[in-house]
Amino acid sequence: MASTGRVDLDGREIKGMTICMIGAGGFIGSHLCEKLMSETPHKVLAVDVYNDKIKQLLEPQGGASLPWFDRIQFHRLNIKNDSRLEGLIKMADLTINLAAICTPADYNTRPLDTIYSNFIDALPVVKYCSENGKRLIHFSTCEVYGKTIGSFLPKDSPLRQDPAYYVLKEDESPCIFGSIEKQRWSYACAKQLIERLIYAEGAENGLEFTIVRPFNWIGPRMDFIPGIDGPSEGVPRVLACFSNNLLRHEPLKLVDGGQSQRTFIYIKDAIEAVLLMIENPARANGQIFNVGNPNNEVTVRQLAEMMTQVYSKVSGEPSLEVPTVDVSSKEFYGEGYDDSDKRIPDMTIINRQLGWNPKTSLWDLLESTLTYQHRTYAEAVRQAISKPVAS
Ligand code: NAD
Ligand code: UDP
Repeated sequence: MASTGRVDLDGREIKGMTICMIGAGGFIGSHLCEKLMSETPHKVLAVDVYNDKIKQLLEPQGGASLPWFDRIQFHRLNIKNDSRLEGLIKMADLTINLAAICTPADYNTRPLDTIYSNFIDALPVVKYCSENGKRLIHFSTCEVYGKTIGSFLPKDSPLRQDPAYYVLKEDESPCIFGSIEKQRWSYACAKQLIERLIYAEGAENGLEFTIVRPFNWIGPRMDFIPGIDGPSEGVPRVLACFSNNLLRHEPLKLVDGGQSQRTFIYIKDAIEAVLLMIENPARANGQIFNVGNPNNEVTVRQLAEMMTQVYSKVSGEPSLEVPTVDVSSKEFYGEGYDDSDKRIPDMTIINRQLGWNPKTSLWDLLESTLTYQHRTYAEAVRQAISKPVAS
């Protein structure tokens, strides 16, 4: 393997590698490809059914060839049913699996697709890595923690303020899901089972693996704006839902009062953590990592208020007089929805293994993300709104 002139956290030279990235055309994949192309010499075999979000990395802009043109190849394939998958994994030193159905609106309305996508379709990836002695970085989710222990305490219990009852630790916290008819948990449960399978492959067959649990990574290119670059009736994750409301000058919808709490992390901070995992296998193998920003906690209502303020600043448009409206989860997501109450990642393991910390405040990450949303979509939304409705 070629020398890269770069060193890892232990001062060892990093060798150039070939990475098979499955789900490379999605939100996280697009940022990871961009980072790998612009800052490292590694090669990427980018696998996805779509490539719109990485087109800028694949096609020459204005006739000039891209400096990384021979380091990224796009392979349009569906991993559900394509025999080329094993060959691509064999060609690579490392496989990163990002492919998934991962929008909450799908978990209770398309539970079978959700379970197949997050468990069954990931099985061959794990098997090919294990059988061929290849390293795997698998994307799981913070949702495997489910609800906090504290959420089961009486509302006025002082223990609810004790971090022992809500901070989520990779090697200690239990996974607490709702009942089976709460199909919201189909995703979390499928992700948990694939984590357990990967862990067992490591224990019994020596698979070199790293499991990543993202805590609400957000930034440009996340999901879609309904009716613009995605289906009109589609329901993306909260950043895109609220962006869509702001672009259309409609109130932001707060599900069940917007009382749930989340910690949001800027995609670019999170990608730094993934690059450290890629380039420091000795420190990352066999680990499960929370990747989030514990300092950026808000309720969904507070997020809506902050996004409204930031959007007004970056667009120069006044905020609505009534910026939010309450909606029930049944109305918004349908039967079988349930929610995680609070998600604060413990950072001990990622700190110890990779010395990584997030940097960007919630205000700053919203400012850059909403600047992108406004620049990318405001005109298209304006035109869509002004189109006469067909009679
Ligand atoms: P995304 O939906 O933007 O990206 C997933 C990509 O996988 C899409 O481009 C999709 O086309 C592709 N894909 C899905 N099924 C496929 C198949 N059968 N064959 C080929 N390609 C397929 O989602 P994302 O936000 O980039 O998430 C990536 C991973 O991280 C997922 O596993 C998700 O569960 C996990 N995750 C993300 C977050 C977050 O904050 N963004 C939070 C928790 C977990
Ligand atoms: N949510 C909301 N309004 C919306 C979209 C989402 O109030 O328009 C809430 C949702 O109920 C959840 C939180 O925002 O409590 C985060 O939702 P997201 O889609 O990002 O997924 P999650 O963090 O639950 O995986």
